[in-house]
Amino acid sequence: NLVNLVSTKASDIDWEAGTPVPYAALCKTFEKIEATTKRLEIQEHLTTFFVQIIEHSPDNLLETLYLCLNRICPEYENLELGVGESLLIKAIAEATGRKTSKVKEELTKWGDLGKVAKDSKSTQPTLVKPKPLTIPAVFSKMKSIANTNGQDSQERKIRDIKFLLTACRGDEAKYLIRSLEGKLRIGLAEQTILISLAQSIALKDPGYQNLSKTLKAEELTAAADIVKSVYSEVPSYDIIVPTLLKVGVKGLREDCKLTPGIPLKPMLAHPTKSITEALDRVEGQTFTCEFKYDGEQDGTTKIYSRNLEDSSMKYPDVLEKLSSIVKPDTKSFVLDCEIVAWDPEKNCLLPFQILSTRKRKDVKESDIKVCVCLYAFDLLYLNGESLLQKSFTERRELLYNAFQEIEGKFAFARYMNASNVEEIQAFLDESVKASCEGLMVKILDGQESRYEPSKRSRNWLKIKKDYISGVGDSLDLVVIGAYLGRGKRTSVYGTFLLACYDPDNEEYQTICKIGTGFSDVSLENHFKFLKEHEIPEPKTYYNYDKGAKPDVWFEPCQVWEVKTADLSISPIYKAALGKIDPSKGVSLRFPRFIQIREDKKPEDATSNDQVADLYRSQFRNE
Ligand code: ATP
Repeated sequence: NLVNLVSTKASDIDWEAGTPVPYAALCKTFEKIEATTKRLEIQEHLTTFFVQIIEHSPDNLLETLYLCLNRICPEYENLELGVGESLLIKAIAEATGRKTSKVKEELTKWGDLGKVAKDSKSTQPTLVKPKPLTIPAVFSKMKSIANTNGQDSQERKIRDIKFLLTACRGDEAKYLIRSLEGKLRIGLAEQTILISLAQSIALKDPGYQNLSKTLKAEELTAAADIVKSVYSEVPSYDIIVPTLLKVGVKGLREDCKLTPGIPLKPMLAHPTKSITEALDRVEGQTFTCEFKYDGEQDGTTKIYSRNLEDSSMKYPDVLEKLSSIVKPDTKSFVLDCEIVAWDPEKNCLLPFQILSTRKRKDVKESDIKVCVCLYAFDLLYLNGESLLQKSFTERRELLYNAFQEIEGKFAFARYMNASNVEEIQAFLDESVKASCEGLMVKILDGQESRYEPSKRSRNWLKIKKDYISGVGDSLDLVVIGAYLGRGKRTSVYGTFLLACYDPDNEEYQTICKIGTGFSDVSLENHFKFLKEHEIPEPKTYYNYDKGAKPDVWFEPCQVWEVKTADLSISPIYKAALGKIDPSKGVSLRFPRFIQIREDKKPEDATSNDQVADLYRSQFRNE
């Protein structure tokens, strides 16, 4: 239907061209999106709304996009919107004249503070109706709430929230409160938003209407591919949206390129279970094997972690040493590398557990106890030029020319261009002895050796020592519930309920109970931490079966690395539901706790698609 979209009253709410978009129009679109689970329908509602904005108020497109994403700035700026539940409860109570205890009671009943706010407002008589809210007004207030800190910040935040709430009509209060909580949860994934952005701009291109129907459809698909790929290089809507409005989709690639200081998400690897599986996958191509270092990942003179968190404050020693490793002709660069703990006395690498004892912020050089060495394996940008489209052979050569090694400070990832199983096996053993996780196998030449930001690519394969027996990779799962301990474990939680993440439906799907791999001390620590995150009811976005209902629920707050013997189809667990079996999920057999993954957010947990892949990969080598 979209192909022939010309102009429309998308949201059933119209507004005069050149005036700000009413917040009600956005909420109406949210309502339609929430009412369906069909991806194409969601896409259509959103694109239609964006087209309406481009026609009437293009200046509001960026703010609209942020409100759809439930963010207020690019991800890497790390300005969190999330306003705490108790503050919101207070603001709702004050704005609607209800008691906080009543608001809390309703929250326990409905599990959705947005609904509680909306219902509370509808029972409240209003004498003077404030002016209707607009998108720019809501966005700027949200931004100012997120930036409010220091003395009286709670009061000031409450005042701003009350101001917005009082002006809300109908469903607006519901979406406003959910947005402020940082949990919009209407099933709107970022990929969908990117596609709608691309489609709406393409639809408004002056040449578009003259195309045939087939060409129109192709044009929309091509536009989505371009916008998604540019976004993976420049993950900033602040840059992409104004450029799109100015030069359209076709000019985007030329005007928006990888830029130092705007961190991109790194390329990730695909797990393989054995050296022979890896060799089968790269058959007929030139490839290289590299040590897979076990540390933390970073960027450049600003150091960004893989979650795009700015870790520069954590590594002043790394920043300080950069000048000595950069060759004189190297003016600007983006490096993909791993920071690994280093023992300066024995001149060898140390395991990741040692690195994780390093303080996170405001580290002073004088109190650094854990030394680190930087292992560089890829160069993405050099002296004004993006290298993403170059082959890995070329990128590696440029990398070697741009930097110099200094023992214990900076080194290139060790590699070997091996070709047979025995050589690779020996190199794998060597990597493990050197405290590495195993090997990365990477295509060297041709199209498939390009750097693919934010993708888990099949052109990079990982072989870890422990894969060789058991299931390929460990899983990173979110702990969402627990069962009270028995016997020796009465004062702590005894077993836990874990979940994977489905990014398309924005939900956590249960995958297994886990009670193995914990020491007494770790159980006590989990209890202390998780107790603070208990919630009375499961979140509406937890997909679980009553057959696996825990004694207590947690908010999604921590990711655990877990090993398993194998995966099986399950009538009780919901992971990868519909991917392997239409009505059953997948669960882990004999799961074992390995460690907490502090570097991963709940949304970075193993996805439902990865679970399905792991399930299928069990049968590939049999
Ligand atoms: P893990 O739990 O091992 O981090 P993952 O699935 O989250 O698994 P992978 O795709 O396995 O991530 O690997 C990417 C990570 O490996 C990045 O953090 C990267 O910095 C690190 N890494 C270490 N050595 C290399 C290397 N030689 N080439 C590429 N990535 C490497």
